[in-house]
Amino acid sequence: MADMAALPGLLFWHRPCRAAAGGELAADGAGHQQMSSLPDHAVDCAIIGGGPAGLVAAVYLARFRRSVCVLDAGGSRAALIPTSHNLPGFPDGISGPDFLARLRQQAARYGAPLVPAIVDRLQPAEEGYCVNIGRRSLRAQFLILATGAADIEPELPDLPNAVRRGFLRHCPVCDGYEVIGQHVGVIGRGRKLAEEALFIRDYTDRLSVFSLPPGLQLAASEQAELARRGVQVHQAPVAATVIEGERVVALHLADGSTQAVDTLYSALGSVVRSELAIPLGVEMLRTGELQVDRRNMSTGVPGLYAIGDVVKGLSQISVAAGHAALAATAIHHQLRKRTGAARRTAR
Ligand SMILES: Cc1cc2nc3c(=O)[nH]c(=O)nc-3n(C[C@H](O)[C@H](O)[C@H](O)COP(=O)(O)OP(=O)(O)OC[C@H]3O[C@@H](n4cnc5c(N)ncnc54)[C@H](O)[C@@H]3O)c2cc1C
Repeated sequence: MADMAALPGLLFWHRPCRAAAGGELAADGAGHQQMSSLPDHAVDCAIIGGGPAGLVAAVYLARFRRSVCVLDAGGSRAALIPTSHNLPGFPDGISGPDFLARLRQQAARYGAPLVPAIVDRLQPAEEGYCVNIGRRSLRAQFLILATGAADIEPELPDLPNAVRRGFLRHCPVCDGYEVIGQHVGVIGRGRKLAEEALFIRDYTDRLSVFSLPPGLQLAASEQAELARRGVQVHQAPVAATVIEGERVVALHLADGSTQAVDTLYSALGSVVRSELAIPLGVEMLRTGELQVDRRNMSTGVPGLYAIGDVVKGLSQISVAAGHAALAATAIHHQLRKRTGAARRTAR
């Protein structure tokens, strides 16, 4: 690895990076949570984020017999999936929480600790990085950022956190197949709304777009294209939702009309959780995603890799798993060059 102190624009803090005893929560072999602590020694690789990307990277690195630690704040987007039908190997589908539990179990089987913790700062250190969690810290030669993204919630007047609570869908790539032929509503604004609606149009000819204040914000050409494809465009914003059981079944609009829907999508996008990388000087897009070398998911900052939804691309679990395999294998090869055989001897 290059000399961290020589990297331009990096904040270099000479405070020793002390490993500390924890009290953090970690997953046991069955994917359940139990008390655990931060490792009291430096690890080969710290993985920030315990969603699919981070957990698959942990499985690979642990099976390469590298010491690893996953630090996770517990907000995986995958935990919001009621049932996924596009994960390889699950023909009958699997819920996000069950899938995450399986991944945690798999990582635990090879001895990769999962420490629930919010990482608040990453600093270059003498041999790698110092990962700060409040007043505690962990040293790592390599870092993988797998912090994901958070969905933007529509500000429905009477239904806060609608995506998080499962009232709205968010990902037609994931579950468009499940709404074939249904009366689908899409809430959003601007180009993203038009694009999402036209994508969903391939699944149903009963499609409407809705807005919240400040309105649809569609260009004339977008309105025309939606009309041409038979999408109903409602100019009046949503005033209230009608809920039956766990579903939104209709929307009251500000013009006094009521529009029935079978399924409602939000097309407001997401906020990328890439802020930890900013002080390290990682290149990022205007939209917050981190720039990486797609061959190995390295960021251009020595020793720092980024995988999953924090990287620009198709936000899907299969993609996150592919990123994880590339990054973990690249890190293993780097460590082999540096120290030879794996130091950790789990078996
Ligand atoms: C409703 C819904 C349905 C979906 N359905 C599907 C589907 O059917 N198929 C599919 O392939 N994909 C689906 N997706 C997308 C899929 O969930 C994501 O692509 C996937 O979860 C990305 O994995 P990730 O590990 O990159 O990020 P995440 O799963 O979001 O995990 C990131 C983790 O990092 C943690 N973290 C963030 N910052 C910090 C920090 N500072 N310190 C410590 N931890 C931190 C977060 O708390 C979180 O646990 C769906 C998404 C949604 C919202």
